[in-house]
Amino acid sequence: MTKHTISPPAAAILGDVHTCDCGARLDGRMAAELHAAENGQCTACLGSAEEQVVPGLTRRCTACAATGRRREQITWQLAHAEAEQVITMSVVRGVVAELDGPFHLSEIADLVRAGLGLPLGRLPVGPRVRDLLLMMQSAGEITMVSAPDELLDGTDVVLYRDPQWQRVATLTP
Ligand SMILES: [Zn+2]
Ligand SMILES: [Zn+2]
Repeated sequence: MTKHTISPPAAAILGDVHTCDCGARLDGRMAAELHAAENGQCTACLGSAEEQVVPGLTRRCTACAATGRRREQITWQLAHAEAEQVITMSVVRGVVAELDGPFHLSEIADLVRAGLGLPLGRLPVGPRVRDLLLMMQSAGEITMVSAPDELLDGTDVVLYRDPQWQRVATLTP
């Protein structure tokens, strides 16, 4: 089976030509994504299973659960959509309202998963809960109390692995 892992341009001077392991030269990100989709590769990481956060830092591709494959990417997209339906703001507010002290993202995710009876690994509970907690944070309902785990030199990017928040006031779920 021919491998179709696509590499982005190695240097800006080469223009926007992506190259595929099969020998194809793909002019531009659009062409690269199309070639990836046609060959069953994830269109986010183009089959590499890694995504670049900032130049020099890569992490496992979140779109395809680091498989590099289109099928997993689509499954995961559907799971994200389902998570959005099932895990609502009032579910997360209800969990947070029960807690007095600071809490970690992972604790809330576990409580939500348990509360809804979701099996481990079927839905992206963590990312969905994080999004909702960030919304609560920007609404001033909770404040982040943890320091970033990593500061990337020369960039504005900070990474939090399992951030901690504290409730600001009593919430009405
Ligand atoms: Zn190819
Ligand atoms: Zn991917």
